[in-house]
Amino acid sequence: MTASLEYARQLTDSPVPPERRDEILADPGFGKFFTDHMVEVSWTAERGWHDAVIKPYGPLLIDPASAVLHYAQEIFEGLKAYRHPDGSIWTFRPDANARRFANSAKRLALPTLPEDDFVAALDLLVSTDAAWVPSGGEKSLYLRPFMYGSEAFIGVRPSAEVKFIAIASPAGPYFASGVKPVSIWLSEEYTRAAIGGTGAAKCGGNYAASLVAQQEAIANGCEQVAFLDAVERRWIEELGGMNLWFVQDDGSIVTPELTGTILEGITRDAIIALAGSLGHKVEERKIELDEWRTGVESGRIVEVFACGTAAVITPVGSLKWRGGEIVMAKEGDATPVASEIRSRLLDIQYGRAEDPHGWMHRV
Ligand code: PMP
Repeated sequence: MTASLEYARQLTDSPVPPERRDEILADPGFGKFFTDHMVEVSWTAERGWHDAVIKPYGPLLIDPASAVLHYAQEIFEGLKAYRHPDGSIWTFRPDANARRFANSAKRLALPTLPEDDFVAALDLLVSTDAAWVPSGGEKSLYLRPFMYGSEAFIGVRPSAEVKFIAIASPAGPYFASGVKPVSIWLSEEYTRAAIGGTGAAKCGGNYAASLVAQQEAIANGCEQVAFLDAVERRWIEELGGMNLWFVQDDGSIVTPELTGTILEGITRDAIIALAGSLGHKVEERKIELDEWRTGVESGRIVEVFACGTAAVITPVGSLKWRGGEIVMAKEGDATPVASEIRSRLLDIQYGRAEDPHGWMHRV
């Protein structure tokens, strides 16, 4: 299949001045600045996908009755474009994001955007705003495609009008002061997803529902929150925005199996593929909260780390809950397995190593 959408080009006549852009790229932080353009494609039940345009980045005019504002019919994706040493620009597994986006669309009763059109939309945005792809350090251009019900109609049914939009934001290293172990709060009251729910979809509603647990984490001095299964509150699922891995004393690495309630992380999937070549056996299975607690105490679990597009791989320092805490790593402690997998992945993404899996896509 090839991309079929034809784009109108409405390029900005007032881009961010190059000096200001360079200033931003020197220290972009995360999610704070946006590039000069955005992609927008409309969909209606009658016409399908149409009116594709690349246009100046700017506010949307949105009807107050739009479906998304009332019933949260919305999905999104997150991936990055990297500048390689020769100046070329590459995205990491955009086809995998396209597939996940299509699966999320089906779950949210949104129309699916053909995978090739998803990839082509991002290629167009990145090539138009290529000057915004930083070089050096652990910097990248974070891409945020999303889709929402835009029909002005009060009533619970799938929106007959939909917008697909993609924006881009330069990103610095997720942790400005280097990789440090994160502290995790165990959410015992709130769950993230139930069987038959939307846990495996990347929809805004999942994140809205996780915020109160995240607030609880912060109030308890933790940075991130871990969720348990919604039925028994016994099995480890994932963090608010990252998948989890447990390193055992024999070098094997374990991650919760996909049950429909966990987001199928693309970084998680890449680690499964990479682990073998690094000498780690991989297990995808259910992991009990008790196994985490007792495994750390007995020395069976030697490292825990989290993975996702934004922060790549980050060691988990501690798990805290009402009435207890276990510590896996303190700041400055070596976390050799997390570090090794992190470097391997970054070397591929930044073009410093071969790409044996064919993951990189040249823009
Ligand atoms: N779980 C959740 C809930 C997430 O939001 C993310 C980020 N997309 C992940 C896991 C990691 O997924 P990925 O590796 O594709 O970024």
